[in-house]
Amino acid sequence: MRCGLCGTDAVLVHKGLTGYQAPARFDVYDCRGCGSQFSWPMAPAEALYENIYRNIRNVPGYSRYLLYSENIKKAASPLDYLADKEESYWATAAYLRGLKKEGGRRISVLDVGSGMGYLTYALHSDGFAVKGLDVSEKAVKLAEASFGGLFTCSTLEALVESGPTFDVLVLNQMIEHAADPAPLLQSAVKLLAPGGKILITTPNRSFSPEGAVWETDLPPVHRWWFSEKSFEYAAGVLDCEVEFFDFSSFYASHYVRVSRAMIPGLNAKRSFLDAAGEPVPGVFTRPRDWWLERISEKLGFAGGYRAARDLLSGEARFSGARGPVCCAILSRRKAAQPVT
Ligand SMILES: [Zn+2]
Repeated sequence: MRCGLCGTDAVLVHKGLTGYQAPARFDVYDCRGCGSQFSWPMAPAEALYENIYRNIRNVPGYSRYLLYSENIKKAASPLDYLADKEESYWATAAYLRGLKKEGGRRISVLDVGSGMGYLTYALHSDGFAVKGLDVSEKAVKLAEASFGGLFTCSTLEALVESGPTFDVLVLNQMIEHAADPAPLLQSAVKLLAPGGKILITTPNRSFSPEGAVWETDLPPVHRWWFSEKSFEYAAGVLDCEVEFFDFSSFYASHYVRVSRAMIPGLNAKRSFLDAAGEPVPGVFTRPRDWWLERISEKLGFAGGYRAARDLLSGEARFSGARGPVCCAILSRRKAAQPVT
């Protein structure tokens, strides 16, 4: 099986992985060329997303997106609100604000796969000239109803035809959902102004040990599991430079516990949705001590509670520059100056 990112012949490492919705099953391939894993077949997933959004309050991961879109308007700084929630938004906010400060001008941003629209809204509120882009007409209508006319329904490829360019394209937790990431990235580069950047966040395979298989969401919700090497490869092909965001400041100010047992993928033995598209009872569970942790937060002794729990369970608070979320920033090389 050829890798859809780099074209190398990939190796089958797992046969018949449980799909996000029963009874679908998928094979997992590992590409030694670019360090990516991908699931096969790349079956259409529209009906699956219909089921997820129909049950959104009960589907973890997606239910928190709904919460963000409902609560963000109450925040004094919408971008600070999001940045505090997750690594991806932290990196996006820090990097874009850094560019704004450095350039001393208004930065134009395309939020690719804007979904419910709250990140586009947060960037708009923070002074960026931002447009949200989504292929789903339904998503664009919902985002417009919540946050106003900041959105366009189109594919990246179609947008290239109409010719706008942007200082930054943000691909926040979306590239792992794409069936075909190579043409997506090629179109993204065409939409960049000279010196423009593509900021990509996605689950980080480089964070898992060598030999780990599909420690990410079940296919076809996630179709790819990329490593840092994947983006080094992509940058080379696209004539870009690549750097990786340093998350040290996030982990120093946020308590993140990472245990391999908490990671989905091969650890998830059952599909999350049944054949009718309804959540399977008992599959979506919170950590056993979820309520204890919330109570300790309310009572103001969360720090002590977590330290004792982690000491007993052998799990540790995570700290470091590169963690479970990868943030790759591709910079388009400035066009060579003509010799005079
Ligand atoms: Zn590859």
